[in-house]
Amino acid sequence: MEKRSTPNRRQFIQLSGLAGAASLLPAGQARASVQAPASVPRGTAKNVIFLVVDGMSHGTLGLANQWKLRHEQTAPHWIKLLERSDIKRSLQDTASADSPVTDSAAAGSAWGCGQRIHNGAINYDPQGNPLKPILSHAKEAGKKTGLVTTCRITHATPAAFTVNVQEREMEDAIARQYLEREVDVLLGGGARHFSQAQADGSVVDFGAKFQEAGYTLATDRDELAAAKGKQRVLGLFSKSHVPYAIDRKNDRSLAQVPGLVEMFKAALASLDGSNEGFFLQVEGGRVDHAGHANDAGAILHEYLEYDNCIPVALEYVKRHPDTLLIVTTDHGTGGCQLDGQGKRYVGSGPALDRINTLKYSFEWLENRFRASGKFNALDFTRATGIKPTAGQSAIVQEALDADAKYLSGAFLEAFGDQLNELTAVGWSSDKHTAECVDLFTMGPGAAAVPAYIKNNELFGHMMSAMGLSEAS
Ligand SMILES: [Zn+2]
Repeated sequence: MEKRSTPNRRQFIQLSGLAGAASLLPAGQARASVQAPASVPRGTAKNVIFLVVDGMSHGTLGLANQWKLRHEQTAPHWIKLLERSDIKRSLQDTASADSPVTDSAAAGSAWGCGQRIHNGAINYDPQGNPLKPILSHAKEAGKKTGLVTTCRITHATPAAFTVNVQEREMEDAIARQYLEREVDVLLGGGARHFSQAQADGSVVDFGAKFQEAGYTLATDRDELAAAKGKQRVLGLFSKSHVPYAIDRKNDRSLAQVPGLVEMFKAALASLDGSNEGFFLQVEGGRVDHAGHANDAGAILHEYLEYDNCIPVALEYVKRHPDTLLIVTTDHGTGGCQLDGQGKRYVGSGPALDRINTLKYSFEWLENRFRASGKFNALDFTRATGIKPTAGQSAIVQEALDADAKYLSGAFLEAFGDQLNELTAVGWSSDKHTAECVDLFTMGPGAAAVPAYIKNNELFGHMMSAMGLSEAS
């Protein structure tokens, strides 16, 4: 973790919730300004929908494309965006202030405040000054705001549109700032940060505080459906992250957990019709996690679920052309690739069939093994089709006994070669990558976005498209 200066007293008071969002920025604070493109008609984007998939290496798209073409005879919606003449495609440089390889906090903040900052921070510059997030700008302009994610709602990417914390791990503080800054719709995981233990041992139920502030609460699909169209909704569907799409599909005990498309539609129903419009961030947050875990089954289904949000957004934009739509990812993760397999690579196609034998994520397995404290070979076979040997079982059991932070490392150590043989999916690492990523923009302001853009430059384009200036 980079060393950062501590906030001054005034900033600290503001962070601790004693001052409102409007007074966040010290008057006259110097900051590098992002040049607003001159050619855009101002004030034409009433709404902004920012559809982000976290940590999508381009190879993940290639895998999903070939899988979908083979099994559903059609390309992913991301690929179909390329066929449209009314969408601008750019390549985006995703670096942060202190590394060519960004984390999600700095990458989200680049969009959220227009500056490149240090990895790990959210809307704080390297000198320790808070930078006003784009949702605060939108709110002050009378727009409604919404955050939807399959991660904890307090995770880095949605937070980076909204809050100021010096460390992304300050998720309790992020939940408090969501309440103070009156984000109208919050849907995702992360319930554990809405029931907060205080220094004196008491527990503050933030859900109740949201309720007092007029929010409808939802904890499952039925409650989300019942909250449809309500002006303010807090939906928390998991203690931590929302379970992976592959697990929700195959584990009936997860049938009451809503998926990303469902949450996105619910958010639109609440935000639609606002007089001054809205700013909605929707994140497919866990393609990144599956990339870190090198989990081929999880990453494929997680991406495909996110991909199904694209037609929902396009349908909304068709009826509301005063909407700026952004479709992108914040960085690559894991360097996922469908590799050539076999003589003249003819094994790679059948591998796309064999990947369908993967029924559950590493995380699903990990949860079961941790609950019992034992590696279970039958569960592993059920999830992957692979029959573990005694040696392989021992490797995972050892990691379990040692209370390893994640079991994915042990899974890969024991079964990595077999999984690679099964799926033909290879990985460059378990880390983020510096690759250039796609950025699609559509609607008011899109024409001014250059073909090659630094992540932090997008902020000025969004502000300009909404007719807002940073001084406001
Ligand atoms: Zn990541």
